[in-house]
Amino acid sequence: MGQAKRRGTLEQRIAQAHAKIEATRPEKLVCNGCGADVKQIHPVSTRGLTGIEAIWLGQCDCGQTTFAANGKPEAVQAFFDALSSDTELTLGRQRQDGSGHETV
Ligand SMILES: [Zn+2]
Repeated sequence: MGQAKRRGTLEQRIAQAHAKIEATRPEKLVCNGCGADVKQIHPVSTRGLTGIEAIWLGQCDCGQTTFAANGKPEAVQAFFDALSSDTELTLGRQRQDGSGHETV
């Protein structure tokens, strides 16, 4: 009985954690590159990012990647600061994936 109860609690906790993340899911993102609506949005692990509750990654048809983050404002700001310092790398990789034929 005690075991069943504990399992129920764990399932509830997992469900709650999922619900908490899903609650922050943006309906859509606006592409940083072409301004189109991005509807392919995936959650990204926030492990190790203190103060960040959820990160969403939107993949636009044009190949641009757009991020959205929820959490403490300073933590979100720090995340985007880190992201922008790494943007060239990330975008370069995405562009290669997207077009495949680009030789720079
Ligand atoms: Zn785009």
